[in-house]
Amino acid sequence: MHNWQTAIKRHALLILLACLVGLAIDRLLLVLVLLLLVYGARNYYQIYRLYSWLAKDPERRPAEPPESGGIWGDIYDGIYRLQKQERQSKSYLENIINKAQESTAALEMAIVMVNKQGNLDWWNKAAETLLGFRYPQDINQSVVNLIRNPQFSDYFDSENYSETLKMEAPGDSNKVLEFQIALFGEQERLMIIRDITQLQRLANMRKDFVANVSHELGTPITVIKGYLEALLDNQDLLEPRWHKALDQMRQQSMRMENLVRDLLMLSSLETKTMSKNRQQIKLSSLIGEIENDTRQMFTDKSHTFINECNDDDTIVLGKRNELYSAISNLVVNAAKYTPAEGTIRLRTRDSEAGYLVEIIDNGIGIEKHHLPRLTERFYRVDGSRATDTGGTGLGLAIVKHILLRHEGELLIDSQYGKGSTFTCRFSHQRIIKAPESSEQGSADNSAPSPLNDQQKNSQPQKQNLH
Ligand code: ADP
Repeated sequence: MHNWQTAIKRHALLILLACLVGLAIDRLLLVLVLLLLVYGARNYYQIYRLYSWLAKDPERRPAEPPESGGIWGDIYDGIYRLQKQERQSKSYLENIINKAQESTAALEMAIVMVNKQGNLDWWNKAAETLLGFRYPQDINQSVVNLIRNPQFSDYFDSENYSETLKMEAPGDSNKVLEFQIALFGEQERLMIIRDITQLQRLANMRKDFVANVSHELGTPITVIKGYLEALLDNQDLLEPRWHKALDQMRQQSMRMENLVRDLLMLSSLETKTMSKNRQQIKLSSLIGEIENDTRQMFTDKSHTFINECNDDDTIVLGKRNELYSAISNLVVNAAKYTPAEGTIRLRTRDSEAGYLVEIIDNGIGIEKHHLPRLTERFYRVDGSRATDTGGTGLGLAIVKHILLRHEGELLIDSQYGKGSTFTCRFSHQRIIKAPESSEQGSADNSAPSPLNDQQKNSQPQKQNLH
């Protein structure tokens, strides 16, 4: 600003001087024209210097613009300053990009950026190994064309990425990949892909191990139980001091049998895929049956059962014996953990979130901090509680798995000392309304229903299918 004012003053003085000289020699116009020419030539020269400096190849151009005084000096300095700033931020950005590239190249997981058209923008080295992307041929290629798998295209197009997708690696059926997608910017996607072959192998080994051990334990337990029953039937022949021991042995062998049965059930739920052949199960009759069976098991506790499942036309699509097992687990739990004379309500209702089957008791309840962990295997609120009631700690894990297989979920609410509500929520796709209240396709009535003598005589047990 200071230079600008000085330049104006200097130009005004020059014009004044030219006017005086012009008047003195009586050639005012000529002197002014001459002055204008000199001024124009000087400015043209400065523009020419700036132009030739800018026109040079940036690599070879001198870092500093030409030197000059006055206004032009200020212009050159300003350009130099801007250029320096730009160079600094460019090298800063280059530095960050290099670091990001080096670090992502060192990652074992593949990272892929996909633009809003679904085409590849960028990927790291691991994406080339795991997914076979080639640089630069695949830049801007459609990701669903490169990863040709209907499971992947469905997941990619769903835009619901709350869960990850596990599938075979493209072109290598021995590898299992886990895909996770995050949306960012304007419908752009960041994909993170991990090789989980090893983890999957370990998980399968664990499942096989549990299934094999449970299976192998089945026969010895049956034999031991058989002999125990025989001994108990002939108690009179034994010395009285053996009676208590035998009774305890029978109880423990039953616990072991239940444990093995539940473990087998869990591993079969984990390994077997849900058959596409869905049965139509009338909920009200299924729940009625479960209520009756549970009543029989707990006659000594004189519970009041209130059955509010009246919509006879509601049918759930799935597997009858699995649903029997899930709901029965919850009703038996309600009876187990509700003291004598307590009330157990069974209710069905439709809601926006889905179709609900609620099992409500006014029993001992559960402290809030246990609720998130209740469906974990072997998790018990209180070890002694479970042992007293003959529980295995696997019941709710089984319920959770069964409901997941039926596109449902288990919701738990409880107040310590007041009671609990266990809710099975089924998605609306699984529910149909029957024109007539007949139960079709549920020929599979393999629900382990009528109680055997043992169960009647001993601690109540949940009835999980085999
Ligand atoms: P368990 O075979 O021990 O009953 P579950 O997985 O069925 O195992 O249940 C886990 C734990 O949750 C139980 O040990 C019990 O403490 C608690 N629980 C389940 N249902 C109820 C209920 N209705 N009221 C109170 N506690 C419950």
